[in-house]
Amino acid sequence: MAERALRAAVVGSGPAGFYAAAALLARGAEVDLIERLPTPWGLVRFGVAPDHPEIKAVSRVFEKTAKEPGFRFFGNVDVGKSVSPAELASIYDAVIYTVGAQTDRRMGIPGEDLPGSWPATAFVAWYNGHPDFQDLHFDLSGERAIVVGNGNVAMDVARMLALTHDELHPTDTTHAAIDAITGSGLREIVMLGRRGPAQAAFTNPELKELGELAGSDVVVDPADLVLDPASEAALAEDRSTARRNVDLLREYARREPTGKPRRLVLRFCVSPVAILGDGKVEQIEVVRNTLAVDESGQIRAVATGERETIPCGIVLRSVGYRGVALPGVPFDDQRGVIPNAEGRVLDPAGSPIPGLYCAGWIKRGPSGVIGTNKKDAVETVERVFEDADAGRLPLGTGDIEALLVDRGLPFVEYSGWEAIDEHERGLGAPHGRPRVKLVNWDELLGHGRTRQ
Ligand code: NAP
Repeated sequence: MAERALRAAVVGSGPAGFYAAAALLARGAEVDLIERLPTPWGLVRFGVAPDHPEIKAVSRVFEKTAKEPGFRFFGNVDVGKSVSPAELASIYDAVIYTVGAQTDRRMGIPGEDLPGSWPATAFVAWYNGHPDFQDLHFDLSGERAIVVGNGNVAMDVARMLALTHDELHPTDTTHAAIDAITGSGLREIVMLGRRGPAQAAFTNPELKELGELAGSDVVVDPADLVLDPASEAALAEDRSTARRNVDLLREYARREPTGKPRRLVLRFCVSPVAILGDGKVEQIEVVRNTLAVDESGQIRAVATGERETIPCGIVLRSVGYRGVALPGVPFDDQRGVIPNAEGRVLDPAGSPIPGLYCAGWIKRGPSGVIGTNKKDAVETVERVFEDADAGRLPLGTGDIEALLVDRGLPFVEYSGWEAIDEHERGLGAPHGRPRVKLVNWDELLGHGRTRQ
């Protein structure tokens, strides 16, 4: 191995992919970052809410990585279709899968698939301009939208539905989404948390933003903030997120509605049991929960017999993301991740597969903030170099570029992405917008100066 640099492929160009690439480059490896879409950044482009530009700005760090010697980007390359995992394994010394969690978790309740019941993942991809989600039609003509879940994705979705034209215009939300949200008949957005306010997964800045919206009053029932003894005890030890969340919610509960056009209602200790309607969503049936401490010390929701139906026109289910299996790569269907030990991919017998690694959400599940993926990717890359030093890596031969050219498969290089980026920024600039995203494949591939 000493005669040449380690050659690695990283599959998936979201935060985990870029942090893995940076860690590999820092130790002298050559890195090909392979991406299914014509554009890089994964959920930074297609997941982070458009009204959070300061979070999206992490892409500037990734841009620096992309400029380092030894880095190549191959967009529009679908691993599993354009090139197989076995072929990648033969070309590279090490392959790191950083493909994220590409679908949603299911609730497993009747009516979950009624038209008008959507995974939040699809809604997020749509308003962020993901080219695979632009044909979806979200009917926002009803007066009430339900958002199920109490995580930061639920927060993003609920807030996006509540934003005014003036709040959306300076963002890179798609035109279609701005028109649909601002032209909707929505009067009320209701977020449903199955546990109590002290167990909410959302974080303080996101909750604080709800209290500052131009066109929407935030509404919390003070009765929902009467805590059970276990939650009180947990809060007494908590000096950060949960404590501050409950303090903010108490402040919201004291507010009088100011008559803004929309209301954003936060409800707690309610679980959906069915989504009802004649051919489309018309109501959601929920059961009231109490909280109980289970044998592992976790505070869990326990259904009571008390039920209620809430009329609504759309349900956005935001109960977590889930990884998708890649044919030819081991997958733990129970957890929705690639089975691994500190990033080394394990075969069904539990032994590491030489040269195969993973990082990010497909390694540990869909948790943490963008920065969490740095530590995670660095851990994986450390294992790669341990294996390289111990002579455990298979030596790859060949070149993906030659393979793609040979097959006549068009691909987007980093310079192609830069051309897309410049074009999008140019479209946005005259209107005071950061960019206007290209949202269709042909346009993206056209502007990406695809090579073949
Ligand atoms: P999450 O944080 O895991 O939240 C999932 C939510 O769904 C929890 O409130 C969970 O309740 C609830 N839930 C799960 N199953 C349910 C069911 N069957 N019925 C009702 N509720 C159910 O996931 P996420 O919101 O998708 O976010 C993923 C990750 O990305 C998180 O780490 C998040 O912080 C991060 N993120 C960060 C930002 C940001 O920093 N601004 C923005 C977006 C996402 P329980 O707690 O009771 O399980």
